[in-house]
Formats: sequence, structure tokens, C-alpha cells
Amino acid sequence: MKNLKSFDEDCFEVYKTAVRRKKDEAKKNLLIGLENRIESQFILYAEKFSNKKIYEVTTLGFNNNEKNVLIDLYQYKSAVIRNIKNKILDSQIRTINATCQYCTLNSVETLDHFIPKEEFPEFSVNPLNLFPCCPTCNSKKSYLCFDGEESLFLNLYLDELPNKKYLKAEFDFDENIPLVTFSLYNPENIDVIDFRTIQNHYERLNLLERMRVKSDEIITEIINSLKTYYKVNSDIESLKSFIEDEEIENKEAYGYNYWKSVLRLSLIQYNEFWEKYIINV
Ligand SMILES: [Zn+2]
Repeated sequence: MKNLKSFDEDCFEVYKTAVRRKKDEAKKNLLIGLENRIESQFILYAEKFSNKKIYEVTTLGFNNNEKNVLIDLYQYKSAVIRNIKNKILDSQIRTINATCQYCTLNSVETLDHFIPKEEFPEFSVNPLNLFPCCPTCNSKKSYLCFDGEESLFLNLYLDELPNKKYLKAEFDFDENIPLVTFSLYNPENIDVIDFRTIQNHYERLNLLERMRVKSDEIITEIINSLKTYYKVNSDIESLKSFIEDEEIENKEAYGYNYWKSVLRLSLIQYNEFWEKYIINV
């Protein structure tokens, strides 16, 4: 999981472009009529965004017709939205720009409205409110994104991820493939509020369980490659430090608590793992 750079061009221009492309004249005129109000909302959003206080944004309130037309401006397959998505993704580092950073499990295939468009229809095409993600994460995000000032999800444009441990993996070796359990902990004293946001994010997106389900494949790969290495070099300590060095690079590329790195680094610390799955096979 890595922080993403936010859209750095004129956001209101995106709204105006989306309106100009509207074919239905009645809807187009309605949207043009709303432009001043929407512009002031975009200014408010940008201001709260730069102060990291999005929870303070309030909606102007629209009638049902206005609401539907505003929400309808967002069409994932439209040129305007595709353009936003590409601009956001192109400005990220290559290693992560195809992967959903909410989970680091699936590919980016949609855009999440950080604050929901149903409640804030004026931000349906505001690039600062759009986050590239996978359909699973998008569907698990509820209409609630804040509980008062408490963030229920990480906003990876704004909430700086700490370079401290918060994810751990523990193993059970009773089966023919080691069984992993992921959990969150805070051994390096991440700020309480920041840690709470991380916990909320992982719980609400069911990340620990989703990572566990994907782990068998990774664990099998680790075992197979270590068995091959072990035949060439049976010095376990040097194999361990080889993996540790590799994971320093991976953490840099994919994030400090990248689940695959956490999994690998933890697994190789167990003597039982080496004995049962690598040496005595
Ligand atoms: Zn995801």
C-alpha cells in the first residue's frame, strides 16, 4: 500500500468539460445553471483537501432532479472519466499504478468516490474525490466515510502511511501448506488516531481475510523457490539474508507493510518452516 499523488490540474475544468460533452440539451442547461454553485463547492473541497479536513465538507443540497443529473455526469467508460483515471495513474510510480492501493490485491478497474456521490452529487466528477481502485474494494466501501472526525477508510492522497510496522503474519504448520493469520498491531507507536484509521480501513474492506485467501499461492511459490535454492546453497542464514535484502527493495516499491513482504519475512523466521517444508522433504 502506497500513497498516491493527487490530481494536480484544474478540477473545475473537468466538471465544465463533462457538462459541455452532455448531449441532452435540457440536462446540459440545468448543469450550466448550477455551475456557480458547483464551482464554490469545488473550491471548498480543495480547501478542505489541502487542510486534510474533508469531513468538514458539507453538501449544498440539491433537488432530486439536479441530484440525478449530477450523479449521471460520472460514467466510468466516458472519455472525461477515462482521462482523469489515466492522468492520476500516469503520475504514480510504475510499480503500483495498475494495482488497487486500498487492498494491493487486485487490479485497478474503477474509481471510488471518496465521499459518496449519492450524498455529495456535486463531486461526482471532482478528481480530488476520485480514487483508482478495484471493484471489490469499491463495493465494500459504504456510504459512510467518516464518523464525526474519525476516518473509516484511508484516503491515500492525504493520510500519510507510516514507515512503521502495523501488519503481522503468524503461521501454523500442521497442514501440508503453512496456514497464515494476518493481524494488525502497533509495536512502534503509530499515532493513535492514524492507527485507528488503518484498523477501520482493514476491517471495513475485510483485508486481513482477503490477504489470507490469496496467501496459499504465495506460500507455495516461496517453498518451491527456497527448495531450489537450498539444493544449491544449504546455508539457511544466507538464504534468509538474501530474502531480507530482497524485501527491503520490495517494501520501498510496494509499501512498508506490503502483505507479501510481511508474509515472506515472517515465514522465514520459523525454524519449523525450514525443517518441515525445505530441509526434510
Ligand atoms: Zn482493492
